[in-house]
Amino acid sequence: MSATIAGPVLVLIEHDRGVVADTAFQALVFARGLVAQGAVTSVDAVLIGADADPVADSLRAYGVGVVWQIHHEALSDYAPEAWADAVVELAESVGPVAIVATGSDRGNEVLAHVGAVLDAPFAANVTATTTGDDEWTITRTRWGGSLLENATLRAPIKLISTATHAFSGEAPAGLVSGEMATGLFTPTLSEAAARTRIVDRVSLAAGITLTTAPVVVSGGRGVGSPEGFAILEELAGLLGGAVGCSRVVTNNGWRPHADQVGQTGKRVAPDLYIACGISGAIQHWVGMMAAKKVLAINIDGDANMVSRADYAVIGDLHEVLPAIIAELKARKPA
Ligand code: FAD
Repeated sequence: MSATIAGPVLVLIEHDRGVVADTAFQALVFARGLVAQGAVTSVDAVLIGADADPVADSLRAYGVGVVWQIHHEALSDYAPEAWADAVVELAESVGPVAIVATGSDRGNEVLAHVGAVLDAPFAANVTATTTGDDEWTITRTRWGGSLLENATLRAPIKLISTATHAFSGEAPAGLVSGEMATGLFTPTLSEAAARTRIVDRVSLAAGITLTTAPVVVSGGRGVGSPEGFAILEELAGLLGGAVGCSRVVTNNGWRPHADQVGQTGKRVAPDLYIACGISGAIQHWVGMMAAKKVLAINIDGDANMVSRADYAVIGDLHEVLPAIIAELKARKPA
């Protein structure tokens, strides 16, 4: 427990043009844990850009004390250096004990810039923290999630990003939230701060995405060909899910890299992960180990994926998947 609690924790709420990332709520839950440990006085949220203003009310359930809305013409879309400079300016005014973001590409990018500006250490992808007077002990994921590392963090302002899905995004039950204040903050920001910014976007996926889908139907080498994925697409469509794949599949050019799950692909945490013809190598497993349930379909009963899965069907996926689809269609009300 901290002897003297000097200030709040600032939580950067990651959003894309006003659409909040689920992981932002996980960062808030982590920050509540710092309050519970007596390490910070309160949780303050940081919303960058005017298009994020409508989000503020959804933060109330997390016991947020102040929502800082940062407005500036350079903050009309994601711009890592400008976001970082804005956070640093706010920190100079508010005096936080820690600044927390999500361990996503954006969260880590912004905090890396913040660390560079403040000349402060930054602990990325943290799964647990034990706070102390000056020194905090943290556990963080390394090597794509295959290793947990304990480290100490000593700095006037601790910079921490939370590992994806390491914390629940549910608002803490029984939390009596007080009044949530809103503060408008206008940073000065230099011209140079906005030199890296989004100028155009090409959307590759519409609707359900791999990282948010409640069901992921994923295929590996066992699928056999690009055409073999049609049956996985059909099952995913019936279940309201998305299709993922292993690295062998992307290496073979059967699917785009955007569909790859694993250490060098995407991290997913669906309610159900259906692994079709995937052996379950550690580099794949780290990308889907946060799934609530795993169903393995494999011809090899000794495959790593089969041993680790909650359910397994030992058989040829080209026979098993059509059978599942036929059953689902038969049960679907006309
Ligand atoms: P295989 O290991 O060849 O397994 C194929 C499986 O299909 C077998 O279990 C087999 O029994 C089964 N099968 C075959 N035919 C059928 C059938 N008809 N019906 C049912 N089952 C069948 N991999 C990733 O996936 N994601 C990553 O992000 C990733 N990053 C990596 C990073 C590094 C640095 C390295 C070194 C490797 C990485 N890999 C990654 C590769 C990883 O080590 C494995 O090689 C890869 O995951 C294996 O893919 P697979 O399971 O599709 O193929």
